Amino acid sequence: EDDELMQIINGAKESRSSRVVPPGSELFIDEIYTTLNRTFKLQSFRPNQLEAIVATILKKDCFVLMPTGGGKSLCYQLPALIKGGKSQGTTVVISPLISLMHDQVQHLVKMDVKAGMISSRASTEDNKHTVNLFRDGLLDIVYLSPEKANKSAMIQRIIGKLYDQNKLARVVIDEAHCLSSWGHDFRPDYKGMSFFKEQYPAVPVMALTATANEKVRMDIIHNLKLKSPVFLKQSFNRTNLFYEIKWKKKDYVEEIKEYIVRRFPKSTGILFCHSKQACEDVSDKLNQLGLSTGYYHAGMSTEERFAAQHLWQTGKIKVVCATIAFGMGIDKADVRFVIHLFIPRSLEGYYQETGRAGRDGNFSECILYYCYKDARSLQNLIHRDENLTEEGKENHLAKLRQVVQYCENTTDCRRQQVLHYFNESFSPAECRKNCDNCKNYNHVTVVEKDCTEYAQDIIKLVKSIQSEKVTVLHCQDVFRGLKHNKITKMGHNNNPYHGKGKTLDKTDAERIFFYLLSEECLVEYQVMKAGFASNYVRAGKHASKVLNGRKKIKIQFSSA
Ligand code: ADP
Ligand code: MG
Ligand code: ZN
Repeated sequence: EDDELMQIINGAKESRSSRVVPPGSELFIDEIYTTLNRTFKLQSFRPNQLEAIVATILKKDCFVLMPTGGGKSLCYQLPALIKGGKSQGTTVVISPLISLMHDQVQHLVKMDVKAGMISSRASTEDNKHTVNLFRDGLLDIVYLSPEKANKSAMIQRIIGKLYDQNKLARVVIDEAHCLSSWGHDFRPDYKGMSFFKEQYPAVPVMALTATANEKVRMDIIHNLKLKSPVFLKQSFNRTNLFYEIKWKKKDYVEEIKEYIVRRFPKSTGILFCHSKQACEDVSDKLNQLGLSTGYYHAGMSTEERFAAQHLWQTGKIKVVCATIAFGMGIDKADVRFVIHLFIPRSLEGYYQETGRAGRDGNFSECILYYCYKDARSLQNLIHRDENLTEEGKENHLAKLRQVVQYCENTTDCRRQQVLHYFNESFSPAECRKNCDNCKNYNHVTVVEKDCTEYAQDIIKLVKSIQSEKVTVLHCQDVFRGLKHNKITKMGHNNNPYHGKGKTLDKTDAERIFFYLLSEECLVEYQVMKAGFASNYVRAGKHASKVLNGRKKIKIQFSSA
């Protein structure tokens, strides 16, 4: 059966160039590509998208495992619009988050797709209108919360009526890991989704998730009662990408220029910057150094952005300095290098952004410039973000900590680390020295040191002088035993903790401070002074755990 499917898919891919419609596909292949181009304004499919689309149109159950940002939505949004083939009627999508549904529906409505959502949160008026359209079979795609699908007798009656009229095209369970208690966000109402296969066995079900855990997958297939589903799994490993973390020094822009000239003088690349201003500054600086670069950010007018994108896409300008807004919906296959000039906010984001490199399958490099200062300022930015709830802040900080751990880990294979994050097990041998850590493996030995005593001294030091408003830098200097003007003037050379870390390397001392900051044993806070925000440090909420020995501070150090 799957052979038949593969034949059709391969035929579909070929027909793209030859315009010959493969037998058995009843013209819908053409419609698929037209919809991709005209409605979604996309040029080509990503791995497994076409496979999922064809499978569901052929009424097969389907399980799609794809990384976050991989393009799962298209796998069900596009077939919902296909009227040829065997597919007709309304596509019902179960999605766990109302905000997510809302975004997707808005996006679809903007593209003139007949889409709607029914949730407990929308106004009764809005719901009534959508329910009426849904009942009359006038929606191509309708998003339901699992609670509605599970508990609303009215919704279930409508689904039954559509089914009787042969107008229930398919059921989609997005973020399907929510039905597994092994997953990271279990939603009891998802368990009720077995209802669809029990009531309407002939209606195809598509389950999608980014959680690759085997137990979760078994739970999903079992609970949804999928019938020998077409299993589409994309490994998150990008074998042709080289990953490297570089220490960000003062002259890093010069270093990048040297790198481009040496490694990729004629190739296309993206330099990701953290702000609009940074995009322009870095681009200017590189141009002064003799390169020809452009920039792209959300502060530019639509025309300017279009022009910048066009120059880059047509190869007239090889290197673009951009914020992460760049690249959404851009598919340039021959990007040879992606450089992050600032620490990313999450590993998902980093994975997605580096994923813009090497779409053609050829060797490409991903470099991230990292330093504590950047991590700290991003941390501060999150703390100060007024749009975030306390919970949201914790969430962002936790994600940042994972990025920091990734950057700080100079031992383990980069692939293994990232894939572990996506629940994919990976043997470092398969990396074939295609990341900095694997490449340097023989030259570096790593030792884990217990730094708890140093950490205790640092916290005691900070506590003893924090009322005087001191910076992290100042405390580092006191800890290392320096005696410059500022220290003697404040009398901190007589502090009992002055010089407690004088046998440590400068960078090692910095790393301990940094670690304490990222674990919230120390925190930075802002004070406005003469129109400028100054950062000062004080003991944080986890300081006492370190002081009373309940929390050990262990840090990996590499020695050449
Ligand atoms: P997921 O649900 O897997 O996390 P989404 O469906 O939200 O991912 O898609 C992530 C991004 O990828 C979106 O901006 C989407 O427009 C884009 N995208 C999806 N498919 C394609 C494609 N074939 N070509 C280019 N961009 C795509
Ligand atoms: Mg999604
Ligand atoms: Zn590796």
